[in-house]
Amino acid sequence: MAKIHGLVYIIVGLFVSILSWKLNYEKLIFFFYIGWFFVLIGAFKLVLNFIKNKAKKQETIQTKTHHTPHSQQHAKYCARCGNAMRMQDFYCSRCGAKV
Ligand SMILES: [Zn+2]
Repeated sequence: MAKIHGLVYIIVGLFVSILSWKLNYEKLIFFFYIGWFFVLIGAFKLVLNFIKNKAKKQETIQTKTHHTPHSQQHAKYCARCGNAMRMQDFYCSRCGAKV
């Protein structure tokens, strides 16, 4: 249920409600309301996804800024194998060559 996109609910809901309204409003009033119920669920899901995505984006921005100083420490490279090293390293972590 969680994997169905909110737009699908809206489209199905609109389709059901319009169809029942066009065919026989008085007989299919039950389906008409069910259709609108689906539209509401779809809209609710879209809003929920939007909020979730916003929270995710903020999380990735935070982890990015957190990792930036660490990646800046890869400022020198091993002369023998080209391995990226931190400034405080004296020996290559890959081949053991002294820098
Ligand atoms: Zn090396």
